[in-house]
Amino acid sequence: MPSDTATTEDFLTKTNGEGTRPFVSFHKPLIGQEEIDEVVDTLRSGWLTTGPKTQKFEKAFAQYVGSEFAVAVNSCTAGLHLALAATNVGPEHEVITTPYTFAATAEVVLYTGAKPVLVDIERDGFNIDVNKIERAITPKTRAIIPVHFAGQPCDMEAILDIARRHNLTVIEDAAHAVAAEYHGKKIGTISPLTVFSFYATKNLTTGEGGMVTTNDRALADRVRSLSLHGLSRDAWKRYSKAGSWYYEILHLGYKYNLTDIQSAIGLHQLAKIEKFLDDRRRLVELYDQSLAELPEVMLPPHGTNGRHAWHLYVVRLRTDKLRISRDEVITKLAEQGIGTSVHFIPLHLHPFYRTTFGWAPGDFPNALRTYESAISLPLYPQMEPHDVRDRVVATLKQVIHENRR
Ligand SMILES: *Cc1c(COP(=O)(O)O)cnc(C)c1O
Repeated sequence: MPSDTATTEDFLTKTNGEGTRPFVSFHKPLIGQEEIDEVVDTLRSGWLTTGPKTQKFEKAFAQYVGSEFAVAVNSCTAGLHLALAATNVGPEHEVITTPYTFAATAEVVLYTGAKPVLVDIERDGFNIDVNKIERAITPKTRAIIPVHFAGQPCDMEAILDIARRHNLTVIEDAAHAVAAEYHGKKIGTISPLTVFSFYATKNLTTGEGGMVTTNDRALADRVRSLSLHGLSRDAWKRYSKAGSWYYEILHLGYKYNLTDIQSAIGLHQLAKIEKFLDDRRRLVELYDQSLAELPEVMLPPHGTNGRHAWHLYVVRLRTDKLRISRDEVITKLAEQGIGTSVHFIPLHLHPFYRTTFGWAPGDFPNALRTYESAISLPLYPQMEPHDVRDRVVATLKQVIHENRR
């Protein structure tokens, strides 16, 4: 990776008594010269918003995952909202999802007026416990939104089977799962609708952005129309030579389209996604090997459902073996120049959801226990093996050694 992509964070240093070492930030986007040149080309082309580059990005993305259709949107949140709108989820409905996710997954359900219903995660994993889904189904249930946490595919066969038997639709939150596969099939080809995120920290980024994939032409057309004010098809062409000034509004729509400036970045990120994943997997292997000897650290599950996209590397601490809490471990790592994060603060712990739905911390005990012990360690393609071994793991080992029970 050329050094010209270094950020100010690289130059933030921490003194730890042995001199100064660069801060290992939790995340850095990897933007190459190709992305920069393509953005400049777009800016000079005179076509800035949704247009030819977005069309090209959609085609390339559909081809990559193997879906019939792909519709670019300005965020995964927007895409999830449109997926629910396109399948007519409304105020009379309930939608099942997991507490172990980002706010977006539940708030889009509320945008439609429907009610999110949470199902706890597996005891020793991060994904929805498929054995508990059926208990949560009522006559109002209309859809299930599984989340492939960290890029590890959920048990889609079980979820699709439940959906078939109860006549529910499945919308995958694949924000972490670009390049993930479920038993040889790419995520994005399995459910009626799948939604990806290209947010700044995600495996493939356009700064902000998202993609909805489907094999159903009617759903694709509806999502596309809803993403641009409910206008008739290909309305974006109305300012091109091929277009006409005339358009019709067919539904209540939204303003969720992706710009060509963002698609210009996405085209080149997509071309590198397999290499990015290779790099991530090498770092994961190194983490697994070098952390294996620590009984205080539980390694993330690799899963048995197919190819993990390794968006995140989340370890869980056995805090019963430590004299300090998870929060204190995070503080000590930061003091030593290691950036970490926590994924996620479960939905049912947030004040808004607690007061709106009366959810209590103990309602989803697996999500609560996992959250209280989880730390996401830095994982991104331009990390070097020594960043993993000599910085992150060495520092975590030192913090654990000093604070063992
Ligand atoms: C990032 C994220 C989203 C939202 O993605 P945006 O593109 O920022 O809207 C949704 N779900 C999960 C699980 C995420 O991590």
